[in-house]
Amino acid sequence: MKTITISRRTAISFAAATCFSGVIGARETSSFLDLDQTTRVVAPLNPVARKLLIRGATIISMDENVGNLAKGDILIADGTIVAIGVNLNSNGAEVIDAAEMIAIPGMVDTHRHCWEGQLRRINPNAASLEDYSNATHLSFAKYYRPQDIYVGNMVSALGCIDVGITTVIDNSHNSRSAAHSDAAVEALLDAGIRAVHAPGAPGAGDWDKAHWPGNLARLKSKYLTNRPEGLLTLGVMDGFPKLETDQWAVARELGAVIVTEFIGGDLASQLEGLHRKGLLRSDNIFNHCTDLPESAWKILREAGVRVSVTPRSDAHYGIEDGLNAWKAALEHGIRPGLSVDNETSYSGDMFMEMRVAFYQRRVQGKPGNAEMVASTNASRLLQAATIDGAACAGLDRRTGSLTPGKQADIVLIRTTDLNLYPANNVIGTVVHAAERSNVDTVIIGGRLRKRGGVLLGVDQAKLRSAIDESRAYLFKAAGYQPEPFSESFKPIANK
Ligand SMILES: [Zn+2]
Repeated sequence: MKTITISRRTAISFAAATCFSGVIGARETSSFLDLDQTTRVVAPLNPVARKLLIRGATIISMDENVGNLAKGDILIADGTIVAIGVNLNSNGAEVIDAAEMIAIPGMVDTHRHCWEGQLRRINPNAASLEDYSNATHLSFAKYYRPQDIYVGNMVSALGCIDVGITTVIDNSHNSRSAAHSDAAVEALLDAGIRAVHAPGAPGAGDWDKAHWPGNLARLKSKYLTNRPEGLLTLGVMDGFPKLETDQWAVARELGAVIVTEFIGGDLASQLEGLHRKGLLRSDNIFNHCTDLPESAWKILREAGVRVSVTPRSDAHYGIEDGLNAWKAALEHGIRPGLSVDNETSYSGDMFMEMRVAFYQRRVQGKPGNAEMVASTNASRLLQAATIDGAACAGLDRRTGSLTPGKQADIVLIRTTDLNLYPANNVIGTVVHAAERSNVDTVIIGGRLRKRGGVLLGVDQAKLRSAIDESRAYLFKAAGYQPEPFSESFKPIANK
């Protein structure tokens, strides 16, 4: 196996790009919870390591040119992967011993409503989108303060990192004021996750209407112009079920992606008109895409629309026929990302999304489609959770595979743990057996965020007390009496 390295010219252009976008260097954490330093739940991020060497890992690169290595090294400089090979010279780098570990690219969650973090599993048996909304938009969302958005986004972002998700598209559809949007962004930045933050107007209650549609330009100027953060990019979340194409135009002027909750039965009929007007483009990201007719898939493919499929969400809430669109998208030449969507009903990890997608597609292929059964394999699923997700987020030039020249977004999975040992098949171990407890190390943009199984710089006790305060306030404000053993979430009377 030859060593694959980044060319000098690429290295220089990457270094220039990352410097411009401010990846390198520490950042003060924000003070959304309290001005008192002692209440901050995360420490200011460590500077990106100048040089890191991951030594002796089993490497799944998700890059055809790099391939898989039974034992190899990954050299990182100033946040960028510069070489992958065998017995690389450490040359003064900090060395991470990764013997008995599997290195994979950081996973990408292409659709998560991060603001709901403190409402985790509040409605585990929700059987419809309306029922989901009962415990979110129609109740607690209306009372969210900026600090509640901060807490929700923080716990979601840290939860992502903890389980090996290094990039998330934050579908932030509860942006009630400029301060709410700022709180969401600041939590993502403080957590140190790579994120596409896509704010959207709330679904219920009163909010600062004057704040839209100017919010996006304001956010861009505040966080990405002159004071750029390399881990952050911007999008906008469309209204549901009505598409807001005037908002699309605003996003396009600013170079932001457009995220739409695209439920086939409700919205497919609009595609032809939108396509004729040239409004569907490769900066559209459509979530769900359930039950789309043939003609709709043809349009999405022609227009280059990106797709995020939601294996658990579609089945859990019975969206259309409950079948996620992974199979349909692949059949129509689109490689979608996978997404968690909501933690209000289930866990926040991509391992489960991969498995649910696997089993569903296997079942769909069972009646005589041996090719589909065979092609539904662990490798294909990991591709969906990494490089295809990065493409869906528009970030595949920067992340999604272990490739010299890309940002160092890397997860190390410990195979000596009781549930994984022995790792007879490497990709099978990751996709079909690994879980949060096996995620030993997480690196984002060359910055260590988890090491030895521990999230770095996070005060867990303070984080929990911030969550408790937010939860107590939201429950009281919405008039909700906690029912920890309840089988259902009773709608809260409108106050
Ligand atoms: Zn969603």
